[in-house]
Amino acid sequence: MQGDPDAVIVGSGPNGLAAAVTLAAAGLSVQVIEGGPAIGGGCRTEELTLPGFRHDVCSAVHPLALASPFFRRFDLEARGVRFARPQVEFAHPLDGGRAVIVSGSVAETAARLGADGRSYRRVIGPLAGHMDEICQVLLAPLRRPPAHPIILACYGVHGVWPASVLARLWRTSEARAVLAGTAAHPKMPLTAAPTGGIGLMLIALAHAVGYPVVAGGSARITDAMADAVTAAGGSIETGRWVNSLRELPPATAVLLDVSPLALGRLAGDRLPGRYRAALHRYRYGAGVCKVDFALSGPVPWANQDCRRAGTLHLGGTFEEIAAAEAMATAGQHPRRPYVLVVQPGAADPARAPAGRHTLWAYCHVPAGSGVNMTGQIEAQIERFAPGFRDLILARAVRTAAEVEAHNPNYVGGDIAVGTQTLRQTVFRPVPQWNPYRTPIRGVYLCSSATPPLPGVHGRCGELAALTALRDVFGIRGAPDISPARLPPAASLPANP
Ligand SMILES: Cc1cc2nc3c(=O)[nH]c(=O)nc-3n(C[C@H](O)[C@H](O)[C@H](O)COP(=O)(O)OP(=O)(O)OC[C@H]3O[C@@H](n4cnc5c(N)ncnc54)[C@H](O)[C@@H]3O)c2cc1C
Repeated sequence: MQGDPDAVIVGSGPNGLAAAVTLAAAGLSVQVIEGGPAIGGGCRTEELTLPGFRHDVCSAVHPLALASPFFRRFDLEARGVRFARPQVEFAHPLDGGRAVIVSGSVAETAARLGADGRSYRRVIGPLAGHMDEICQVLLAPLRRPPAHPIILACYGVHGVWPASVLARLWRTSEARAVLAGTAAHPKMPLTAAPTGGIGLMLIALAHAVGYPVVAGGSARITDAMADAVTAAGGSIETGRWVNSLRELPPATAVLLDVSPLALGRLAGDRLPGRYRAALHRYRYGAGVCKVDFALSGPVPWANQDCRRAGTLHLGGTFEEIAAAEAMATAGQHPRRPYVLVVQPGAADPARAPAGRHTLWAYCHVPAGSGVNMTGQIEAQIERFAPGFRDLILARAVRTAAEVEAHNPNYVGGDIAVGTQTLRQTVFRPVPQWNPYRTPIRGVYLCSSATPPLPGVHGRCGELAALTALRDVFGIRGAPDISPARLPPAASLPANP
């Protein structure tokens, strides 16, 4: 790139790159500056344990990428990214070799839930059936009237409740466990709103969209985005941490894929006191301790159907998971934590050498914890898969403190970059009409600390970039980001 760029983007996570893609598609020159040694932020794949074992460093399962209007228009498939769906979207093993199996079909899943089957179909069926419309609303700016108010109202009837209240809908330990396993994703006590709504949404997404992994690893997504940016003439620099806005090259717009805490540091006294105080009030949640395993074979789940699942929620009954989450959010390390497990090999066997497997697992811990939870995580897996420990060839561990050290966006190891309370879902990161603007003209926040929500969907970056296009470049309307406008370069690795 010659001369100063039109726009500088700090951070190359999926949102930073979505901003870069949008601005490049509008014909602007963009420069992305990434502090880490590689691009991708929370969407990377590396040989963390042994040669030939490719682990997703952060995100592994991609219902939101599949449902995202940004990625649909960007057309990941045309860019060589293939979503691989396991036969079972997710499973929730229980003691005694029992398990709840959630497949693509609502009816099939309901049939396994005995006395709660009818109620499950009544609550989940309409949500799954209208998932496209619901995602359009949930992944859109909150300040516009919803495109589908009646459908949204139907979701809202259940969506605003804590999981502890919604669990009263169901009597069987199986159905209640499914709700706990999904409602615990946001790292909040299950007595807090809107954990119930988040749980229902994640169950419905499994039926409507699926819980796919990316063939070859999550990095394929961000590689395709970076490829589109460079093919359009943009530049991407890695290994350069930005400590102050003053270090950046002159540009008409600056988009920051950083946490609200980092925004305060980077901008310093250029931000008015009131905005700085609002950023200070922003709340971060519990952290995660993550362990990646290289295994000599597939996990020997006691329940055979669990072997076909991509994702598993471990922790036992609703009450057990509620107790574990209450402890982690109250500053204690649970002895029997809630553990999220992904076995990519169930859908993408090429992640490890023939016959071998990778396993991805994390549990929730107090914010900033330096405690290594490998023992507790392995004990929970062993509880439902006796003999698991005998298969371990190598492991790579990151405590919550180390998660933050690798990526400062994850403050205290909080992978959602802020709690998902009702308040912080609506007002993210501060209460204002357009949350992407900062008080400094031409400077925008575009990370997952802005609406709509955390995850790999690119909408925070896209919506921040559209604001910048309107504000400082006088460009209205979303540019065409399809392969016709931003063709993929030939350099992309072939799909396995
Ligand atoms: C362990 C883990 C598991 C997850 N699992 C899933 C999942 O299965 N599915 C899902 O959808 N989501 C998942 N997520 C969440 C998802 O990864 C994030 O929501 C998403 O990556 C956010 O994208 P982002 O672009 O906002 O930020 P990030 O992806 O965090 O990227 C921010 C980038 O900015 C860089 N940066 C920050 N500050 C600076 C600076 N000062 N100078 C230069 N560079 C800087 C960082 O190095 C980083 O590369 C997971 C996250 C983690 C950590």
